[in-house]
Amino acid sequence: MIPFLDLKAAYDELSPDLETALLRATRSGWYIGGEEVEAFEAQFAAYTGAPYCVGVGNGLDALTLALRAMDVGVGDEVIVPSHTYIATWLAVSAVGATVVPVEPAEGQFNIDVATIQAKITAKTKVILPVHLYGIPADMDAICALAKQHGLLVLEDAAQAHGAAVRGKRVGTHGDAVAWSFYPGKNLGALGDGGAVTTRHEHLAQRIRALGNYGSAVKYYNLELGVNSRLDPLQAAVLSVKLAALDEWNTRRQALAQRYLEGLQGLPLQLPVSPAWANTIWHLFVIATPQRDALQTWLQAHGVQTLIHYPVPPHLQQAYQSLGWQAGDFPCAERYANQVLSLPMGPQLSVTAVDQVIELVQQFFRAQ
Ligand SMILES: *Cc1c(COP(=O)(O)O)cnc(C)c1O
Repeated sequence: MIPFLDLKAAYDELSPDLETALLRATRSGWYIGGEEVEAFEAQFAAYTGAPYCVGVGNGLDALTLALRAMDVGVGDEVIVPSHTYIATWLAVSAVGATVVPVEPAEGQFNIDVATIQAKITAKTKVILPVHLYGIPADMDAICALAKQHGLLVLEDAAQAHGAAVRGKRVGTHGDAVAWSFYPGKNLGALGDGGAVTTRHEHLAQRIRALGNYGSAVKYYNLELGVNSRLDPLQAAVLSVKLAALDEWNTRRQALAQRYLEGLQGLPLQLPVSPAWANTIWHLFVIATPQRDALQTWLQAHGVQTLIHYPVPPHLQQAYQSLGWQAGDFPCAERYANQVLSLPMGPQLSVTAVDQVIELVQQFFRAQ
C-alpha cells in the first residue's frame, strides 16, 4: 500500500525533538499566547522575510481576519481564482464581500493574471491569488496590476510554505499573506493553526486584536473581534517542523522531478512550474479525462490518490444563492472532473514514486 500522505512517518522522523518541545510547552504553565507563540512568530517572520507574523487559529481565519483588517466588507469585490479550495472564497463571503472568480490560464492551475484586469471594477478592493498545489502565482505581475489600480493584495499561501517567486520567498509580496498549518500542509501542526505575515504594522496590529476579541489591551474592546489564536503547543511543534521545512521541500522537489520525467509523453496534463518559480509541491496534480478509471486502477494496485477538488466552489450548494450554473467557469469545472493528486510527501520513497509511475504507464498502455 502506498499512502497518499504519511503523517505518522513525518511525526516519527522528528519525534524526539517534537516530544521535547511538547513537554516544554505543556510544563510551562502558560497555555495561551506566550513565549512559544512569540518564538514561532519571530522564526516564521524571519523565514518568510516579513517584518510581522501574527499567529491565528487556522488558515480560514488568517484569510478572514486579514480581509477584515483591510476593511473589506459588504459592497466590495475580491478577485479570487475559480479553481481553488473553497476556504479562499469562504473568507470573502464571511466578511460580506463579493467573490469575483477568474479562471486559470490554459494548461495551468493558478489564476490567469492576464484576465484579472478585465474583472476589475470600481468596487474591486482586493486581489486574492492562491499558490495552488505549492506552485507560486506570479506575484510580480499581480502586485504591479494591483498597484496600477490602487488595489490591495492578499495571498492565500496555505499550500506554499517555502515557495518563492524569482528568488523571493512567499510571505511579503502582497499586503498580507495568509498561512494554514493544517497537519497535511508542507508546514503542518498536530492540529489546527494559521498565521498572517505582512509588511504593514497596522495590519499586523489589527489582525492580532481582531483575533483576540477585538482587544489590544485586556478588557478594553475596540471592535467586534473573535477568538482565533495560535495555540502554544502547536507553536512549539511548528518551531521544530520549520527547521525541517527546506529539507522536506527539497525531497518533494526530487520526487516531483521524478514524476515529471516518468510521466512525460503520456496523454495527461502535467503540472507546470514556471522557470521563475521555486515550487514546493504541496500536491502533485495531473489532469486527464480518464481520471476516474485511473484512480480506480491505482487504488486496485494499492496506490492511494485524492481529488483536489471534486466540486468547484461556484457549483457548491453553499454558493447556490449566487445563481452560478454549470458552464460559467469551464476550466474550473474541467479540473474538478479531471484532476488527480498522486502520492506526495517528504517521507515518500523514490521506489514508491517509481511504482506509481510504472502503474500510470501501464494504465495508458492498456487504453
Ligand atoms: C488548507 C487551505 C485553507 C484553509 O486552511 P485551514 O487551516 O484548514 O483553515 C485555505 N486555502 C487553501 C488553498 C488551503 O489549501
